[in-house]
Amino acid sequence: MQPDSVILVVDDDPLNIKLLINILAPHYEILFALNGEQALRLAEQCMPDLILLDVLMPDMSGYEVCQQLKLQATVQDIPVIFISSMNEHEDEAKGLACGAIDYINKPINAAIVKSRIANHLELKHARDILKRQATIDTLTGLANRRRFDEFLLQEWRLMQRESKPLSLIMIDIDYFKQFNDCYGHPAGDDCLRQVALAMKEAISRPIDLLARYGGEEFVCVLPNTDEQGVLYVAENLRNCVEMLAIPHEKSAVNSGVTISLGCATLVPNSEQRIADFIKTADYGLYQAKETGRNKVMLSQKSE
Ligand code: GH3
Ligand code: MG
Ligand code: MG
Repeated sequence: MQPDSVILVVDDDPLNIKLLINILAPHYEILFALNGEQALRLAEQCMPDLILLDVLMPDMSGYEVCQQLKLQATVQDIPVIFISSMNEHEDEAKGLACGAIDYINKPINAAIVKSRIANHLELKHARDILKRQATIDTLTGLANRRRFDEFLLQEWRLMQRESKPLSLIMIDIDYFKQFNDCYGHPAGDDCLRQVALAMKEAISRPIDLLARYGGEEFVCVLPNTDEQGVLYVAENLRNCVEMLAIPHEKSAVNSGVTISLGCATLVPNSEQRIADFIKTADYGLYQAKETGRNKVMLSQKSE
């Protein structure tokens, strides 16, 4: 049983909703909707763990609701179970073909409904954990490269639709090879963790994503942020790492660990490519390294 789960019950008949609430409310938090439109809205707003969906409803059928849910990236992973009095095999087949995970016939049997829901919630919970783990860097706890790729693509498309600026910062620790050589690999790992945590705390907007790009490189995606904004954030990051004052006696630029940062900003359009955007920020990082390290450079071009 997953006691913190939220279940959305969708049925045009309040009596059916009441019946399901009686069965489920002692175990889970229940939301309900009386039509498809309400259901879609609530699903997006509240992100329930499971949706119980009636098939026959006026305006929008359960099949249509399910199809729409499965088309939307934000809610498509919420499992849907049909609960219907249409008990022919074809009805069930159609429901499953729409993307539902299960089909329960009415009149419902309380024990069966409870067990099936408990099973599906347990699977959903396990899937959620796997999904989270697959997007996290184990050393630093930051988002990993995969999550960065996914997020950058998503925000690229969104900013393109809304004609808003998107910014990127590529970050690299200065003389980190020497740090490892001098203090040892475990100390290097500890340094990476401290730098990651400090940068994470320095990023104030919840929409911004800080990720580990690989090795001693990090990357920050800033949606709806222009040139001035990205330079401000990057300088903040540079400063917060310097302020950590992690001793680095082999660094040629400072007594402690520092980072170099390359920034790029653009309003995405269909003629530009994400790979070039990353290259542009990377070129800024290269310039920061070439001109002395422990600094921020904004780049307009990719080489
Ligand atoms: P620069 O200032 O030009 O960036 O020099 P650098 O020494 O930082 O750059 P380089 O790319 O030559 O070396 C990166 C080093 O980062 C090499 C490797 O030892 C270290 N490194 C990469 N990943 C890890 C990690 O997960 N843990 C530790 N401890 N070290 C790592
Ligand atoms: Mg590097
Ligand atoms: Mg480096």
